[in-house]
Amino acid sequence: MAKEWKNRTKLVHTGTRRSQYGEVSEAIFLTQGFVYDSAEAAEARFVQAGEDEFIYARYGNPTVRMFEERMAALEGTEDAFATASGMAAVNAALMSVLQAGDHVVSSRALFGSCLYILEEVLARFGVEVTLVDGRDNAAWEAAIRPDTRAVFLESISNPTLEIVDLRHVCTLAHAVGAVVIVDNAFATPVWSYAHAAGADLVVYSTTKHVDGQGRCLGGIVLGRRDLIRGRIEPFVKHTGGAMSPFNAWVMLKSLDTLDLRVRAQTETARAVAHALAGHPAVERVLYPHHPAHPQHALARAQMEAGGTVLSIEVKGGKEGAFRFLNALEIFTISNNFADAKSIVTHPATTTHQRLPDEQKALLGISPGLVRISLGLEDPEDLIADLERALEAVETP
Ligand SMILES: *Cc1c(COP(=O)(O)O)cnc(C)c1O
Repeated sequence: MAKEWKNRTKLVHTGTRRSQYGEVSEAIFLTQGFVYDSAEAAEARFVQAGEDEFIYARYGNPTVRMFEERMAALEGTEDAFATASGMAAVNAALMSVLQAGDHVVSSRALFGSCLYILEEVLARFGVEVTLVDGRDNAAWEAAIRPDTRAVFLESISNPTLEIVDLRHVCTLAHAVGAVVIVDNAFATPVWSYAHAAGADLVVYSTTKHVDGQGRCLGGIVLGRRDLIRGRIEPFVKHTGGAMSPFNAWVMLKSLDTLDLRVRAQTETARAVAHALAGHPAVERVLYPHHPAHPQHALARAQMEAGGTVLSIEVKGGKEGAFRFLNALEIFTISNNFADAKSIVTHPATTTHQRLPDEQKALLGISPGLVRISLGLEDPEDLIADLERALEAVETP
């Protein structure tokens, strides 16, 4: 029955666990431990915990479980395990499927901390990592080998919104028995196609669209039950990356409005992309569903919508970009995205500052590149603010 519900119904109801008080709104079970009726009951629970039986908050908690079940229902996976942050989720996914001597192939346009795990941490434990241009199907084909155990990628990369042909990569990976791990932050859980395209593990930083209001860190790994319960749960529960029940409650309440928020923010992003394309102060606009995106056809084929973030290249390099950022009134200068508040980021001097210049050039992170995350404000106000600020670029 619940399986047939549409996403908006699932987001409000799936996985609700009511206490003996019959509360309407999901309760926060802010407890570390759980009481057993007898010594025998404690022993039995340690042998095999039932569906509604918990042992310790690092292993599981009723509020966290509600959140996990609701997210799994949305993504369409059998199960999910929530983590303290998006990075705890990425780390758990990689660490729980890999061991020394394994080979991993990953797209190279990655969130800095993901790149750190692949290049610094995994390398120290004897895992060989090959980085490829995620847009290039032939590069994936050349890099994936019979001993490749995992493939890692961001379905839409940050900040240039490069797109991976997910079905193609999944087919190549599965032919050699590799586990495909997709960091799906930019695609959003509302427009996700990762599980449907064949990803074995889908990872979200729920800090982004799920919270969506800039409050809590969180993450989640979704996938088949054997992988989630057999690999991810033991790794997270013993290494300490569990989600706090308070954060799970914030996330759970946010799911009530996730679909409405992401749809509104996506519509605003689409309108902004069209308003800024061809503007005399803008070199180029990068938005997956805008015809100027180099992979527009793939974006249309793969994704129902273009997401809530776009990037633009402002004329006049760093100076032009800074003038633009400083002239904005509604947009906040920050490094996060997917917030109710619209945010602008200058990747070359902040999130991607540490990359050597050649690497920035390779990834398309030019001095004039500005990432724009659309919030919940009125789109007309936002477009007016952007157009007014772009005048500062033209007339110094
Ligand atoms: C934000 C982000 C992360 C990390 O998430 P945190 O919740 O900050 O730990 C990982 N991958 C991508 C693509 C992200 O955008």
